[in-house]
This record gives sequence, C-alpha cells and structure tokens, in this order.
Amino acid sequence: MNKSPFEFSDDNKRYHTLNYYNKYHFGSKIYKAVLDCGFSCPNIDGTKSSGGCIFCDGGSGYFTHGGYDLSSQLTREKERICKKNGENARFIAYFQANSNTYAPVEILRKIYYSVLDFPHVCGISIGTRADCLSDEIVELLVELNSKIDLTVELGMQSIHKSTINLINRCYTHKEFCEGFFKLKRNKIRTCIHIINGLPFETHKMMLQTAEETARLAPEAVKLQMLHVIKGTILAEMYERNEFKILERNEYIDIIVEQLEILPPETVIERITGDGDKSKLIAPIWSANKIAVLGGIDKRLAELETWQGKKHNKKT
Ligand code: SF4
Repeated sequence: MNKSPFEFSDDNKRYHTLNYYNKYHFGSKIYKAVLDCGFSCPNIDGTKSSGGCIFCDGGSGYFTHGGYDLSSQLTREKERICKKNGENARFIAYFQANSNTYAPVEILRKIYYSVLDFPHVCGISIGTRADCLSDEIVELLVELNSKIDLTVELGMQSIHKSTINLINRCYTHKEFCEGFFKLKRNKIRTCIHIINGLPFETHKMMLQTAEETARLAPEAVKLQMLHVIKGTILAEMYERNEFKILERNEYIDIIVEQLEILPPETVIERITGDGDKSKLIAPIWSANKIAVLGGIDKRLAELETWQGKKHNKKT
C-alpha cells in the first residue's frame, strides 16, 4: 500500500528507489554482480593524466573479484547472490572498475557479449567516462541495447569548472554533455553520478549540479557523499585540513533539496555511498548507511516534501 504522497512508491519512500523501478520493470527484486575486467582509465594511464581523480582509489572496484577472469567472476557473483537470495535470483552484470568503454571496440564486443547468455543475467550496466564514447563504441552499445537491458553510468560528479579542475577530472562539462547526448539520442538508458561535499563546493553549487542534471534528464542518478579514502590525493588534502567535510545533517538537507529538483521519473539508484570501511578516513558517519537513509526519509516527511516537488519541467 502506498503510504507516501509520491507517485513512484508503494511504501513510505518519497523518492523513486531502484527497488521500486526493478519491481515494476523486471517484476522482481534484482541484484548487481560487480565486475572488474582490468580496464584502465585515460586519467590514470597517462593519456590525460596519471594521477586520476583526486578521490579515486583505483577505479572504485572494491566489491569486485578483480584478478579472476570474467567467467569466474560471474560464477562467484552468481553463487554469492543466489546463496543469499534464493536460486532464482536474477542480477545485472555491472562493469564497475575504472572506465569500462576504454578499450578497442572488438575487445569490448567480446567482453560484453560474453555475459549476455550467462544464467541469471537480466541486464548490463557499464560504468565509464563521457569522453570514452567514440561513435563506434556508441554503435556497439546501441547493438547491445537491442539485445538486453542496458544502462551506461557516467561519473559527472559536478558541473562546476573550478571543481572539475580541482578534482582532476580532465574533461569539461561541455564534453560530458556531448558524450551524454550521444547515448540519449540513441535511447540508451543513462545513470549520472553526482558527488556531494566536494572541496570548496557550496550548498548552492550542489543544487546547481542537481538543476543541470534535471535538465539533462537521465533515466537514473546516483547521489553520493564524498568519501575520503586512504591513499588518495584527497586524503592528503584532508590531512592538511585544506577543506571541510559535510556533517550528516548538512548532507541530508542537500539531498532533500536535490530530490525536490529532480524529475519524479528519475530513478535514484544510490542516495548515500558504499565502500571499503577499512579504508574510509572521513566522514565516519557515512559508514552508518541505515542512519543516513532513515535521516533522509525523516527529513522528507517532516518537510512534507518528495522527489520532484520543485521540479521545473522547463529546465
Ligand atoms: S574517471 Fe573514474 S576510474 Fe578514472 S580516475 Fe576518475 S574516478 Fe578513477
């Protein structure tokens, strides 16, 4: 029963959760198998930079079984998912680590096609950079999209030039939009990643990033708190006290306002963050995911608001 005033919810949620989307799109709960195919990134291998984004700890592959071949990784993930959720559990093959379109197209074709017929796989999700989408790669993605449910995830993080330079993303927002619209024109489902709490960003700047995301209208977004991870350039900046980290209530307030701006149809695939707790330096509060999720629900209810309440369809 829908206890929420929000239309894309059948529980107390006031935003469009991934669980809700999967339930009505796939007909059941869907899980994710995280994969590491050993791709690099132009921001790591020296093509654009060798330092990577300042928060990157080697490609966000914490959950993967990197080091194993793809078939073994899928088998291990299938066993993990089915053991926990029943033998009929289905999952999305998520190419997560580094930039998963950063390879010659024939190599990509072989890799992507190898998961299509793997038992229990009901979709593919590919995490990459918007500047790693050549026309021939987009053609391959279009082909793949005709065979299976496909999502391409793009790490935008922020729209602000000062932040993009500071985090060493190594491509402009204009280039981001060019890559994004190649996918949109070809009707490929997209998921934009946003990081809140990046150094020197104000509350207003984070809302502007949400406004621009609403204008771009991807099918999904991942909203995430900045994590300071051991061994990163960001960690060195943090140790030198060069920037301030958001408090939990500040983060919750920003999320609530961003949700109000985003269209109600946009699926919120993440609203806090996951990661290797043993490497997390700050914010420690983010490790208590349940408290953050509960805080967001509580604040939305207190303010009697929900996702899309302030969405301007003209943006
Ligand atoms: S684009 Fe992604 S993988 Fe590449 S350096 Fe940045 S965060 Fe790491």
